[in-house]
Amino acid sequence: MADKGTKKKLTKVTGGESSSAAPVKPFVASDESKKKARNFRIIAVLCWLVAIAFQGVAIYLLTKPPIVMWQLIALILADLIFVIAGSLLWKKSNRFDPPSEKNKILFFMQSQLGVIAAIIAFLPLIILIFMNKNVSGKQKGIIGGIAIAALLIAGVTGVDWNPPSVEQYAEQTAQVEELTGKNSVFWTKAGTRYHLYSDCWRINTKRTDEIFQGTVAQARELKNISELCSTCEERVRKEKGLEIGKTAAEAAKEALEKKE
Ligand SMILES: [Zn+2]
Repeated sequence: MADKGTKKKLTKVTGGESSSAAPVKPFVASDESKKKARNFRIIAVLCWLVAIAFQGVAIYLLTKPPIVMWQLIALILADLIFVIAGSLLWKKSNRFDPPSEKNKILFFMQSQLGVIAAIIAFLPLIILIFMNKNVSGKQKGIIGGIAIAALLIAGVTGVDWNPPSVEQYAEQTAQVEELTGKNSVFWTKAGTRYHLYSDCWRINTKRTDEIFQGTVAQARELKNISELCSTCEERVRKEKGLEIGKTAAEAAKEALEKKE
């Protein structure tokens, strides 16, 4: 079965094509992607700095008794919001311009920088809350508890559970190119996999009215999709098997003979 096309609105994402045709070529982010990644990184770091500034104000208030609980709680929440915003942008930036896995330490640092930011933005405050003589035991329990919870939430949000890497992009692109001959896949807004056929039934359900077409890297950049649809993979392998072995007519004849 060749791709019969889709009845849905098909939006082709341009600008991600690369020219070389070698089978496993190293992945290099396009200039456009690198520029986007840089902008996301700058805003992410600014968010983290704002978060740390809120922590600074909270620490300052600890030194100025009486302690006003709601002020500290508000500052912890503001700190949390900016740490999370920074982490989400940072993870997004890595999808546009992924690091290399070759240097494990640098790869870990760049992929999981959100966790480190969370620790920097909360741990000093937590330590100072519990060490501070101006804070009563009950206040320590409440404010300290909230700050620890904020650290945990920020830390978990900062983790990239599926960190992108240039090696992964190169491998996945090579797989698609090997199967279809070109770096072109389809995906939907709500989907978690990229597809090789625009008429794959999984992306042609009632829920979908728009299908996107672009490179493997673009599916990851825009929707964080890093997996190939198994239905599409099976289909292309079957088709390839037919092409390499016997013709479709021969296979059909053989199947008929088996039936009889
Ligand atoms: Zn599919």
